Amino acid sequence: MSMRLRPLARQLPAGLIRFDPATLRANSGDAWMATALPEAVAFPRTTTQVSKILAFCHRRRIPVTTRGGGRGYVGGCVAVRGGLVLSLIRMRRILEISKSDGVAVVQPGVITSQLASAVARKNLFYPPDPASLKESTIGGNIATNAGGPRCLKYGVTRNYVLGLEVVLADGTVVRFGSRTHKNRTGFDLVGLMTGSEGMLGVVTEATLRLLPLPPARSALLAEFSSVKQAAKGVQTILGSGFLPCALEIADRFTLAAARRANPNAPRGESLLIVEFDGSAAGVRADLNGVSRILRRSCQRLVTATGAKSCEQLWQIRRGFSYALRDTGLVKLNEDVTVPRGRVLDLFRLTARIQKKHRIPISSFGHAGDGNIHVNLMAPVGTRYNDPRMHRILDELFRGVLTMDGVISGEHGIGLAKKPWWAKAVAREVRLVHFRIKRALDGAGVLNPGKFI
Ligand SMILES: Cc1cc2nc3c(=O)[nH]c(=O)nc-3n(C[C@H](O)[C@H](O)[C@H](O)COP(=O)(O)OP(=O)(O)OC[C@H]3O[C@@H](n4cnc5c(N)ncnc54)[C@H](O)[C@@H]3O)c2cc1C
Repeated sequence: MSMRLRPLARQLPAGLIRFDPATLRANSGDAWMATALPEAVAFPRTTTQVSKILAFCHRRRIPVTTRGGGRGYVGGCVAVRGGLVLSLIRMRRILEISKSDGVAVVQPGVITSQLASAVARKNLFYPPDPASLKESTIGGNIATNAGGPRCLKYGVTRNYVLGLEVVLADGTVVRFGSRTHKNRTGFDLVGLMTGSEGMLGVVTEATLRLLPLPPARSALLAEFSSVKQAAKGVQTILGSGFLPCALEIADRFTLAAARRANPNAPRGESLLIVEFDGSAAGVRADLNGVSRILRRSCQRLVTATGAKSCEQLWQIRRGFSYALRDTGLVKLNEDVTVPRGRVLDLFRLTARIQKKHRIPISSFGHAGDGNIHVNLMAPVGTRYNDPRMHRILDELFRGVLTMDGVISGEHGIGLAKKPWWAKAVAREVRLVHFRIKRALDGAGVLNPGKFI
Protein backbone atom coordinates (compact mmCIF):
# COMPACT_ATOMS: atom_id res chain seq x y z
CA MET A 1 0.00 0.00 0.00
CA SER A 2 2.73 2.43 0.90
CA MET A 3 4.00 2.23 -2.72
CA ARG A 4 1.47 4.87 -3.74
CA LEU A 5 3.18 7.48 -1.55
CA ARG A 6 6.75 6.75 -2.77
CA PRO A 7 6.48 9.09 -5.81
CA LEU A 8 5.47 11.92 -3.43
CA ALA A 9 8.48 11.19 -1.21
CA ARG A 10 10.76 11.53 -4.25
CA GLN A 11 9.36 15.01 -5.03
CA LEU A 12 10.17 16.30 -1.52
CA PRO A 13 13.43 16.69 0.45
CA ALA A 14 14.89 13.39 1.68
CA GLY A 15 13.47 12.24 5.03
CA LEU A 16 10.40 14.48 4.85
CA ILE A 17 8.18 11.46 4.35
CA ARG A 18 8.93 8.51 6.58
CA PHE A 19 7.87 4.91 6.12
CA ASP A 20 9.76 3.19 8.96
CA PRO A 21 7.63 1.16 11.41
CA ALA A 22 8.81 3.09 14.51
CA THR A 23 7.64 6.41 13.02
CA LEU A 24 4.34 4.88 11.89
CA ARG A 25 3.75 3.49 15.38
CA ALA A 26 4.66 6.77 17.07
CA ASN A 27 2.03 8.54 14.95
CA SER A 28 -0.77 5.99 15.22
CA GLY A 29 -2.73 7.22 18.24
CA ASP A 30 -3.47 10.11 20.59
CA ALA A 31 -4.46 10.35 24.28
CA TRP A 32 -7.59 8.26 23.61
CA MET A 33 -7.71 4.51 23.11
CA ALA A 34 -7.91 3.93 19.33
CA THR A 35 -4.85 3.45 17.15
CA ALA A 36 -4.33 2.82 13.43
CA LEU A 37 -1.10 2.57 11.48
CA PRO A 38 -0.80 5.01 8.57
CA GLU A 39 1.10 4.08 5.39
CA ALA A 40 3.52 6.97 5.85
CA VAL A 41 4.07 10.11 7.92
CA ALA A 42 5.02 13.48 6.40
CA PHE A 43 6.90 16.17 8.38
CA PRO A 44 6.67 19.32 6.22
CA ARG A 45 8.47 22.54 7.20
CA THR A 46 6.72 24.95 4.84
CA THR A 47 3.24 25.78 3.57
CA THR A 48 4.41 25.07 0.01
CA GLN A 49 5.32 21.52 1.04
CA VAL A 50 1.92 21.05 2.74
CA SER A 51 0.23 22.30 -0.45
CA LYS A 52 2.25 19.92 -2.62
CA ILE A 53 1.41 16.98 -0.34
CA LEU A 54 -2.31 17.72 -0.35
CA ALA A 55 -2.45 18.31 -4.14
CA PHE A 56 -0.75 14.92 -4.67
CA CYS A 57 -3.02 13.04 -2.26
CA HIS A 58 -6.11 14.80 -3.60
CA ARG A 59 -5.38 13.72 -7.19
CA ARG A 60 -4.97 10.10 -6.07
CA ARG A 61 -7.68 10.13 -3.38
CA ILE A 62 -5.23 9.13 -0.66
CA PRO A 63 -6.55 9.89 2.88
CA VAL A 64 -4.65 12.58 4.80
CA THR A 65 -4.97 12.83 8.57
CA THR A 66 -3.45 15.98 10.07
CA ARG A 67 -1.64 15.69 13.38
CA GLY A 68 -0.33 18.22 15.91
CA GLY A 69 0.88 17.13 19.34
CA GLY A 70 -1.20 13.94 19.26
CA ARG A 71 -2.73 14.78 22.67
CA GLY A 72 -6.38 14.87 21.57
CA TYR A 73 -8.93 12.92 23.64
CA VAL A 74 -11.21 11.71 20.83
CA GLY A 75 -8.95 9.93 18.34
CA GLY A 76 -9.15 12.91 15.96
CA CYS A 77 -5.63 12.48 14.56
CA VAL A 78 -5.88 8.68 14.22
CA ALA A 79 -5.63 7.62 10.56
CA VAL A 80 -8.49 5.13 10.62
CA ARG A 81 -8.55 4.91 6.81
CA GLY A 82 -4.80 4.56 6.47
CA GLY A 83 -3.03 6.81 3.96
CA LEU A 84 -0.81 9.63 5.13
CA VAL A 85 -0.45 11.24 8.53
CA LEU A 86 0.52 14.89 8.02
CA SER A 87 2.46 15.89 11.13
CA LEU A 88 3.00 19.61 11.62
CA ILE A 89 5.41 19.38 14.54
CA ARG A 90 8.33 20.69 12.47
CA MET A 91 6.44 23.88 11.64
CA ARG A 92 7.09 25.23 15.12
CA ARG A 93 8.32 28.81 14.69
CA ILE A 94 6.86 31.83 16.43
CA LEU A 95 7.06 34.22 13.48
CA GLU A 96 6.16 37.46 15.24
CA ILE A 97 4.97 38.91 18.54
CA SER A 98 3.68 42.46 18.10
CA LYS A 99 3.03 44.46 21.25
CA SER A 100 1.59 47.44 19.37
CA ASP A 101 -0.93 45.32 17.43
CA GLY A 102 -1.54 42.81 20.24
CA VAL A 103 -0.97 39.83 17.95
CA ALA A 104 1.28 36.82 17.57
CA VAL A 105 1.84 35.08 14.25
CA VAL A 106 2.78 31.43 14.65
CA GLN A 107 3.24 28.22 12.74
CA PRO A 108 0.80 25.44 13.71
CA GLY A 109 3.32 23.16 15.45
CA VAL A 110 4.18 25.69 18.18
CA ILE A 111 3.52 24.16 21.59
CA THR A 112 0.86 26.17 23.43
CA SER A 113 2.85 26.73 26.65
CA GLN A 114 5.88 27.90 24.64
CA LEU A 115 3.77 30.60 23.01
CA ALA A 116 2.24 31.58 26.38
CA SER A 117 5.73 31.92 27.93
CA ALA A 118 7.18 33.82 24.95
CA VAL A 119 4.39 36.41 25.00
CA ALA A 120 4.48 36.67 28.83
CA ARG A 121 8.14 37.71 28.58
CA LYS A 122 6.85 40.76 26.68
CA ASN A 123 4.11 41.37 29.27
CA LEU A 124 1.45 39.97 26.95
CA PHE A 125 -1.09 37.24 27.57
CA TYR A 126 -2.39 34.35 25.45
CA PRO A 127 -5.27 33.09 27.66
CA PRO A 128 -6.30 29.66 26.20
CA ASP A 129 -4.95 27.08 28.65
CA PRO A 130 -5.93 23.48 27.93
CA ALA A 131 -4.44 21.25 30.63
CA SER A 132 -2.38 19.63 27.84
CA LEU A 133 -0.68 22.96 27.07
CA LYS A 134 2.86 21.63 27.53
CA GLU A 135 2.33 19.03 24.79
CA SER A 136 -0.47 20.17 22.49
CA THR A 137 0.06 22.49 19.53
CA ILE A 138 -1.60 25.73 18.49
CA GLY A 139 -2.78 24.00 15.28
CA GLY A 140 -4.40 21.22 17.31
CA ASN A 141 -5.93 23.73 19.74
CA ILE A 142 -7.44 25.62 16.80
CA ALA A 143 -8.70 22.45 15.11
CA THR A 144 -10.39 21.35 18.36
CA ASN A 145 -11.27 24.87 19.54
CA ALA A 146 -9.69 23.92 22.84
CA GLY A 147 -10.84 25.32 26.16
CA GLY A 148 -9.47 25.21 29.70
CA PRO A 149 -10.05 26.61 33.19
CA ARG A 150 -9.78 30.24 32.05
CA CYS A 151 -12.75 30.03 29.63
CA LEU A 152 -15.15 31.45 32.20
CA LYS A 153 -13.53 34.87 31.92
CA TYR A 154 -11.56 34.67 28.67
CA GLY A 155 -13.47 32.34 26.34
CA VAL A 156 -12.18 29.51 24.15
CA THR A 157 -9.43 29.34 21.53
CA ARG A 158 -11.79 30.74 18.87
CA ASN A 159 -11.88 34.06 20.74
CA TYR A 160 -8.13 34.47 20.10
CA VAL A 161 -7.89 33.48 16.44
CA LEU A 162 -7.87 36.54 14.18
CA GLY A 163 -6.48 35.11 10.97
CA LEU A 164 -5.56 31.73 9.49
CA GLU A 165 -3.54 30.49 6.58
CA VAL A 166 -5.18 27.25 5.51
CA VAL A 167 -4.30 24.70 2.85
CA LEU A 168 -7.49 23.27 1.40
CA ALA A 169 -7.96 19.63 0.46
CA ASP A 170 -6.81 20.15 -3.15
CA GLY A 171 -3.67 22.07 -2.13
CA THR A 172 -5.04 25.60 -2.61
CA VAL A 173 -3.59 28.04 -0.06
CA VAL A 174 -6.05 30.59 1.37
CA ARG A 175 -5.93 33.27 4.06
CA PHE A 176 -9.00 33.81 6.19
CA GLY A 177 -9.49 36.74 8.59
CA SER A 178 -6.81 39.35 9.19
CA ARG A 179 -4.53 40.76 11.89
CA THR A 180 -7.15 43.22 13.08
CA HIS A 181 -9.03 42.57 16.32
CA LYS A 182 -12.32 43.18 14.53
CA ASN A 183 -13.27 42.07 11.06
CA ARG A 184 -16.74 41.97 9.56
CA THR A 185 -15.71 41.33 5.98
CA GLY A 186 -17.68 38.33 4.76
CA PHE A 187 -18.62 35.10 6.50
CA ASP A 188 -16.77 34.04 9.66
CA LEU A 189 -14.55 31.49 7.91
CA VAL A 190 -12.00 31.62 10.72
CA GLY A 191 -14.82 30.42 12.98
CA LEU A 192 -15.72 27.69 10.50
CA MET A 193 -12.15 26.38 10.51
CA THR A 194 -11.78 26.62 14.28
CA GLY A 195 -13.08 23.38 15.71
CA SER A 196 -13.29 21.66 12.31
CA GLU A 197 -11.10 18.77 13.58
CA GLY A 198 -8.87 18.59 10.52
CA MET A 199 -11.76 17.84 8.18
CA LEU A 200 -12.01 21.11 6.23
CA GLY A 201 -8.40 22.21 5.75
CA VAL A 202 -4.93 22.23 7.24
CA VAL A 203 -3.94 25.25 9.34
CA THR A 204 -0.40 26.28 8.38
CA GLU A 205 -0.23 29.68 10.11
CA ALA A 206 -2.30 31.49 12.71
CA THR A 207 -2.55 35.14 13.73
CA LEU A 208 -3.61 35.21 17.37
CA ARG A 209 -5.01 37.94 19.57
CA LEU A 210 -3.00 38.84 22.67
CA LEU A 211 -4.06 40.76 25.77
CA PRO A 212 -1.99 42.74 28.26
CA LEU A 213 -0.67 40.35 30.95
CA PRO A 214 -2.68 40.76 34.17
CA PRO A 215 -0.10 41.84 36.78
CA ALA A 216 -1.55 40.04 39.83
CA ARG A 217 -3.29 36.82 40.87
CA SER A 218 -5.14 35.57 43.90
CA ALA A 219 -6.88 32.26 44.59
CA LEU A 220 -8.74 30.29 47.19
CA LEU A 221 -9.58 26.69 47.90
CA ALA A 222 -12.77 25.92 49.80
CA GLU A 223 -13.76 22.50 51.14
CA PHE A 224 -17.44 21.61 51.49
CA SER A 225 -19.41 18.87 53.22
CA SER A 226 -21.29 18.06 50.00
CA VAL A 227 -21.15 18.70 46.28
CA LYS A 228 -24.53 20.43 46.68
CA GLN A 229 -22.94 23.07 48.92
CA ALA A 230 -20.06 23.53 46.47
CA ALA A 231 -22.45 23.90 43.50
CA LYS A 232 -24.43 26.46 45.49
CA GLY A 233 -21.15 28.30 46.10
CA VAL A 234 -20.61 28.61 42.34
CA GLN A 235 -23.97 30.32 41.90
CA THR A 236 -23.40 32.59 44.89
CA ILE A 237 -20.00 33.76 43.62
CA LEU A 238 -21.28 34.62 40.15
CA GLY A 239 -24.60 35.90 41.46
CA SER A 240 -22.74 38.37 43.69
CA GLY A 241 -21.07 39.95 40.66
CA PHE A 242 -17.62 38.32 40.85
CA LEU A 243 -16.01 37.05 37.65
CA PRO A 244 -13.15 34.68 38.52
CA CYS A 245 -10.74 33.62 35.77
CA ALA A 246 -11.21 30.03 36.97
CA LEU A 247 -13.89 28.31 39.03
CA GLU A 248 -13.23 24.60 39.47
CA ILE A 249 -15.19 21.93 41.32
CA ALA A 250 -14.34 18.35 42.37
CA ASP A 251 -16.45 15.53 43.83
CA ARG A 252 -15.97 13.01 46.61
CA PHE A 253 -14.43 10.19 44.52
CA THR A 254 -11.82 12.55 43.06
CA LEU A 255 -10.85 13.87 46.48
CA ALA A 256 -10.64 10.37 47.96
CA ALA A 257 -8.28 9.33 45.15
CA ALA A 258 -6.25 12.52 45.70
CA ARG A 259 -5.95 11.70 49.43
CA ARG A 260 -4.73 8.19 48.69
CA ALA A 261 -1.95 9.70 46.55
CA ASN A 262 -1.20 12.57 48.92
CA PRO A 263 -2.28 12.55 52.59
CA ASN A 264 -2.23 16.38 52.61
CA ALA A 265 -4.89 16.63 49.88
CA PRO A 266 -8.18 18.39 50.85
CA ARG A 267 -10.40 16.51 53.28
CA GLY A 268 -13.95 17.61 52.39
CA GLU A 269 -16.54 15.83 50.24
CA SER A 270 -16.23 18.46 47.55
CA LEU A 271 -14.14 21.53 46.81
CA LEU A 272 -14.00 24.72 44.82
CA ILE A 273 -10.87 26.39 43.55
CA VAL A 274 -11.45 30.02 42.60
CA GLU A 275 -8.88 32.27 40.95
CA PHE A 276 -8.82 35.98 40.13
CA ASP A 277 -6.44 37.95 37.94
CA GLY A 278 -6.07 41.67 37.34
CA SER A 279 -4.61 44.57 39.31
CA ALA A 280 -3.10 43.87 42.75
CA ALA A 281 -5.82 45.84 44.54
CA GLY A 282 -8.57 44.23 42.43
CA VAL A 283 -7.54 40.63 43.05
CA ARG A 284 -7.18 41.30 46.78
CA ALA A 285 -10.66 42.81 46.95
CA ASP A 286 -12.14 39.90 44.96
CA LEU A 287 -10.43 37.37 47.19
CA ASN A 288 -11.70 39.03 50.36
CA GLY A 289 -15.22 39.37 48.96
CA VAL A 290 -15.53 35.74 47.86
CA SER A 291 -13.87 34.44 51.05
CA ARG A 292 -16.49 36.30 53.07
CA ILE A 293 -19.31 34.73 51.05
CA LEU A 294 -17.97 31.16 51.12
CA ARG A 295 -16.96 31.13 54.80
CA ARG A 296 -20.64 30.82 55.67
CA SER A 297 -21.06 27.51 53.86
CA CYS A 298 -17.65 25.83 53.60
CA GLN A 299 -15.76 23.72 56.14
CA ARG A 300 -12.27 25.05 55.45
CA LEU A 301 -10.86 27.80 53.32
CA VAL A 302 -7.30 28.44 52.17
CA THR A 303 -6.33 31.64 50.38
CA ALA A 304 -3.33 32.51 48.23
CA THR A 305 -1.96 35.72 46.75
CA GLY A 306 0.83 35.96 44.20
CA ALA A 307 1.78 33.58 41.42
CA LYS A 308 3.79 31.18 43.58
CA SER A 309 1.17 30.47 46.22
CA CYS A 310 -1.62 30.35 43.60
CA GLU A 311 0.39 27.70 41.74
CA GLN A 312 0.58 25.66 44.95
CA LEU A 313 -3.22 25.54 45.08
CA TRP A 314 -3.34 24.57 41.42
CA GLN A 315 -0.92 21.71 42.09
CA ILE A 316 -3.75 20.12 44.06
CA ARG A 317 -6.08 20.41 41.04
CA ARG A 318 -3.41 19.13 38.63
CA GLY A 319 -2.78 16.20 40.97
CA PHE A 320 -6.30 14.83 40.35
CA SER A 321 -5.46 13.27 36.97
CA TYR A 322 -2.33 11.60 38.37
CA ALA A 323 -4.23 10.35 41.42
CA LEU A 324 -6.87 8.80 39.16
CA ARG A 325 -4.17 7.21 37.03
CA ASP A 326 -2.64 5.72 40.20
CA THR A 327 -5.90 3.86 40.89
CA GLY A 328 -4.77 1.53 38.07
CA LEU A 329 -8.21 1.69 36.46
CA VAL A 330 -8.84 2.78 32.86
CA LYS A 331 -10.02 6.40 32.86
CA LEU A 332 -12.64 7.22 30.23
CA ASN A 333 -12.58 10.99 30.29
CA GLU A 334 -15.78 12.64 29.08
CA ASP A 335 -16.17 16.42 28.77
CA VAL A 336 -19.94 16.84 28.89
CA THR A 337 -21.28 20.35 29.42
CA VAL A 338 -24.61 21.47 30.83
CA PRO A 339 -26.14 24.92 31.35
CA ARG A 340 -24.50 26.22 34.52
CA GLY A 341 -27.70 26.03 36.55
CA ARG A 342 -27.80 22.25 35.94
CA VAL A 343 -24.36 21.35 37.33
CA LEU A 344 -25.86 19.82 40.47
CA ASP A 345 -28.29 17.78 38.32
CA LEU A 346 -25.28 16.48 36.42
CA PHE A 347 -23.61 15.36 39.65
CA ARG A 348 -26.88 13.67 40.65
CA LEU A 349 -26.99 11.89 37.29
CA THR A 350 -23.42 10.59 37.65
CA ALA A 351 -24.20 9.44 41.21
CA ARG A 352 -27.20 7.46 39.87
CA ILE A 353 -25.14 5.92 37.08
CA GLN A 354 -22.41 5.03 39.53
CA LYS A 355 -24.84 3.17 41.74
CA LYS A 356 -26.82 1.47 39.00
CA HIS A 357 -23.83 0.23 36.98
CA ARG A 358 -21.47 -0.23 39.91
CA ILE A 359 -18.75 1.74 38.25
CA PRO A 360 -16.65 4.34 40.06
CA ILE A 361 -16.99 7.80 38.52
CA SER A 362 -14.81 10.79 39.24
CA SER A 363 -16.24 14.16 38.28
CA PHE A 364 -14.38 17.44 38.40
CA GLY A 365 -13.87 20.44 36.18
CA HIS A 366 -14.90 23.85 35.08
CA ALA A 367 -18.01 24.52 37.16
CA GLY A 368 -18.28 28.12 35.98
CA ASP A 369 -18.80 26.86 32.41
CA GLY A 370 -20.96 23.86 33.38
CA ASN A 371 -18.19 21.77 31.78
CA ILE A 372 -17.50 18.80 34.02
CA HIS A 373 -14.98 16.06 33.27
CA VAL A 374 -16.90 12.89 34.05
CA ASN A 375 -14.34 10.10 34.28
CA LEU A 376 -15.68 6.55 34.16
CA MET A 377 -13.10 4.44 35.97
CA ALA A 378 -13.32 1.24 33.96
CA PRO A 379 -11.75 -2.12 34.82
CA VAL A 380 -8.18 -2.74 33.70
CA GLY A 381 -8.02 -3.88 30.07
CA THR A 382 -11.25 -2.13 28.99
CA ARG A 383 -11.20 -1.29 25.27
CA TYR A 384 -12.92 1.61 23.58
CA ASN A 385 -15.58 -0.54 21.94
CA ASP A 386 -16.56 -2.26 25.20
CA PRO A 387 -20.37 -2.77 25.05
CA ARG A 388 -20.87 -2.17 28.79
CA MET A 389 -19.04 1.16 28.67
CA HIS A 390 -21.03 2.07 25.59
CA ARG A 391 -24.28 1.49 27.50
CA ILE A 392 -23.09 3.59 30.44
CA LEU A 393 -21.94 6.43 28.19
CA ASP A 394 -25.24 6.21 26.34
CA GLU A 395 -27.07 6.83 29.62
CA LEU A 396 -24.76 9.69 30.55
CA PHE A 397 -25.11 11.42 27.18
CA ARG A 398 -28.89 10.94 27.07
CA GLY A 399 -29.17 12.50 30.52
CA VAL A 400 -26.96 15.43 29.53
CA LEU A 401 -28.98 16.07 26.35
CA THR A 402 -32.21 16.14 28.33
CA MET A 403 -30.64 18.90 30.47
CA ASP A 404 -30.07 20.94 27.27
CA GLY A 405 -26.39 20.08 27.57
CA VAL A 406 -23.90 18.90 24.96
CA ILE A 407 -21.84 15.70 24.73
CA SER A 408 -18.58 17.61 24.26
CA GLY A 409 -17.59 21.02 25.58
CA GLU A 410 -13.86 20.79 24.83
CA HIS A 411 -12.49 17.69 23.18
CA GLY A 412 -14.68 17.42 20.08
CA ILE A 413 -16.38 14.46 18.42
CA GLY A 414 -13.62 12.69 16.44
CA LEU A 415 -13.92 8.93 16.70
CA ALA A 416 -14.72 8.67 20.39
CA LYS A 417 -18.12 10.33 20.19
CA LYS A 418 -18.95 9.37 16.62
CA PRO A 419 -21.55 6.79 17.78
CA TRP A 420 -23.51 9.60 19.48
CA TRP A 421 -23.19 12.26 16.75
CA ALA A 422 -26.59 11.49 15.25
CA LYS A 423 -28.27 11.54 18.66
CA ALA A 424 -26.62 14.77 19.74
CA VAL A 425 -27.23 16.85 16.61
CA ALA A 426 -30.43 17.38 14.62
CA ARG A 427 -30.67 15.86 11.14
CA GLU A 428 -30.86 19.25 9.42
CA VAL A 429 -27.74 20.42 11.26
CA ARG A 430 -25.89 17.27 10.29
CA LEU A 431 -26.90 17.93 6.69
CA VAL A 432 -25.39 21.43 6.89
CA HIS A 433 -22.13 19.88 8.16
CA PHE A 434 -22.22 17.41 5.29
CA ARG A 435 -22.76 20.15 2.69
CA ILE A 436 -19.91 22.25 4.06
CA LYS A 437 -17.66 19.22 4.00
CA ARG A 438 -18.67 18.44 0.41
CA ALA A 439 -18.06 22.06 -0.66
CA LEU A 440 -14.52 22.15 0.79
CA ASP A 441 -13.45 18.52 0.47
CA GLY A 442 -15.79 16.80 -1.97
CA ALA A 443 -13.31 13.97 -2.49
CA GLY A 444 -13.31 13.23 1.24
CA VAL A 445 -9.53 13.20 1.51
CA LEU A 446 -9.17 15.11 4.80
CA ASN A 447 -9.47 13.01 7.91
CA PRO A 448 -11.97 10.44 6.57
CA GLY A 449 -13.73 7.97 8.88
CA LYS A 450 -14.55 10.54 11.54
CA PHE A 451 -18.00 11.88 12.34
CA ILE A 452 -18.94 13.37 8.93
C1 LIG B 1 -3.71 15.50 29.90
C2 LIG B 1 -4.62 16.16 28.89
C3 LIG B 1 -5.33 17.28 29.26
C4 LIG B 1 -6.20 17.91 28.35
N1 LIG B 1 -6.85 19.02 28.73
C5 LIG B 1 -7.64 19.67 27.85
C6 LIG B 1 -8.31 20.88 28.24
O1 LIG B 1 -8.20 21.36 29.35
N2 LIG B 1 -9.09 21.48 27.32
C7 LIG B 1 -9.24 20.99 26.04
O2 LIG B 1 -9.94 21.60 25.24
N3 LIG B 1 -8.62 19.84 25.68
C8 LIG B 1 -7.82 19.19 26.53
N4 LIG B 1 -7.19 18.04 26.15
C9 LIG B 1 -7.39 17.52 24.79
C10 LIG B 1 -6.31 17.98 23.80
O3 LIG B 1 -5.13 18.32 24.42
C11 LIG B 1 -6.78 19.12 22.91
O4 LIG B 1 -7.81 18.61 22.09
C12 LIG B 1 -5.67 19.74 22.05
O5 LIG B 1 -6.20 20.87 21.40
C13 LIG B 1 -5.11 18.78 21.01
O6 LIG B 1 -3.99 19.39 20.41
P1 LIG B 1 -2.90 18.50 19.65
O7 LIG B 1 -1.89 19.43 19.06
O8 LIG B 1 -2.41 17.43 20.53
O9 LIG B 1 -3.81 17.92 18.46
P2 LIG B 1 -3.92 16.44 17.88
O10 LIG B 1 -4.37 15.49 18.93
O11 LIG B 1 -2.68 16.11 17.14
O12 LIG B 1 -5.11 16.67 16.84
C14 LIG B 1 -6.40 17.00 17.29
C15 LIG B 1 -7.30 17.27 16.06
O13 LIG B 1 -6.85 18.45 15.38
C16 LIG B 1 -6.53 18.18 14.02
N5 LIG B 1 -5.36 19.02 13.73
C17 LIG B 1 -4.19 19.09 14.43
N6 LIG B 1 -3.41 20.05 13.90
C18 LIG B 1 -4.08 20.60 12.86
C19 LIG B 1 -3.80 21.63 11.91
N7 LIG B 1 -2.66 22.31 11.94
N8 LIG B 1 -4.72 21.90 10.95
C20 LIG B 1 -5.89 21.24 10.91
N9 LIG B 1 -6.21 20.25 11.77
C21 LIG B 1 -5.32 19.94 12.73
C22 LIG B 1 -6.29 16.68 13.97
O14 LIG B 1 -6.58 16.15 12.68
C23 LIG B 1 -7.27 16.18 15.02
O15 LIG B 1 -8.55 16.05 14.46
C24 LIG B 1 -6.33 17.39 27.03
C25 LIG B 1 -5.60 16.26 26.68
C26 LIG B 1 -4.75 15.65 27.59
C27 LIG B 1 -3.98 14.44 27.14
